[in-house]
Amino acid sequence: MGPMGYCIYVTRSTFPRILYDMLRDAGFRLEVWDNSGRGMWDRAAAPPRDVLRDAASRCDALVVTIGDRVDEYVLSNARVKVIATYSVGYDHIDLEAATKRGIPVGYTPEVLVEAVADFAMGLLIALARRIVEGDRLVRGGEAYRVWGEYLGTEVWGKTLGILGLGNIGVAIARRAKAFNMNIIYWSRTRKPWVEVALGIRYVNLDDLFRQSDYLVVSVALSNETYRMVNEDRLRLMKKGSYLINIARGAIVDTNALVKALKEGWIAGAALDVYEEEPLPATHELVKLGNVILTPHIASATVETRNKMAEVVAQSVINVLLKGGKPIYQANKV
Ligand code: NAP
Repeated sequence: MGPMGYCIYVTRSTFPRILYDMLRDAGFRLEVWDNSGRGMWDRAAAPPRDVLRDAASRCDALVVTIGDRVDEYVLSNARVKVIATYSVGYDHIDLEAATKRGIPVGYTPEVLVEAVADFAMGLLIALARRIVEGDRLVRGGEAYRVWGEYLGTEVWGKTLGILGLGNIGVAIARRAKAFNMNIIYWSRTRKPWVEVALGIRYVNLDDLFRQSDYLVVSVALSNETYRMVNEDRLRLMKKGSYLINIARGAIVDTNALVKALKEGWIAGAALDVYEEEPLPATHELVKLGNVILTPHIASATVETRNKMAEVVAQSVINVLLKGGKPIYQANKV
């Protein structure tokens, strides 16, 4: 079959342009779900499940992202030869369901690491120095009346705990070194070579929660990590400590976190991801002053988003036109 015969189903119309251009230039026919007017991570932006299932049964490739659940139901009648997700996390894809059908799953690690690590450090410093609160005070005309009370805490010399030392965790550690932070981590797999290279220390999970002044969540979401930041562990944290989550919302038990913030078990939190996205404007978290809330934008730079788009498009091209593999493959087929 020539490339024109291949149909690629793309679940958003708002990916970077290069994604559609590369696929069209390769000669594919694109079917694009129109989500204009809605943010990419907005649940309502995703095609309904029956539409995705129908696409998987007619098309040769699916280009999806967070919010598109690709599972047994969607793949039950599939003819797709490749699935490529515009994300490094692939918790929305049932890898087993894809693997048993021989479908490779492409994803986009590495290209977003530096952007996400920058953002995590940005949140950490914004929390420590109350940058967002300060902005609100200036806008409200209150800034100089209460200025003296607005003390932050230092970053220099404090302990940073990293929960999940993957690519992003390591990139955060590299940055934190420059701020003279004492760095500890817990990860499923111990990384002795990183310990040596960066002078960081492995601790058990409880100690990570006990010792951290700033705790950054950078672990992947899976059955094992679902709500691993729970009430018991939040209670282990220091009173003046801060939690930063740039990984996935469901790694943190949100109700327990709200309690921790309200009752002062910890000093504050910065969240880029939520159990429910978008976070409802009426949510308890929105009412709290000691949290910074961002709309899942840790990887959102022009450069990184374009690189992610290129990886996705090239992965589809590799499989359909070259008999090859996605650039990065999440499963083994
Ligand atoms: P990565 O290099 O693949 O690292 C994954 C991390 O998760 C590693 O620490 C790994 O542990 C751990 N992990 C995976 N499966 C696990 C399991 N079953 N139990 C315990 N730990 C497990 O990925 P990355 O690039 O650092 O990204 C990490 C996560 O950040 C992604 O999965 C994604 O959800 C999230 N993320 C969010 C944004 C955003 O926009 N907010 C952007 C990019 C990424 P070991 O290596 O120790 O085995």
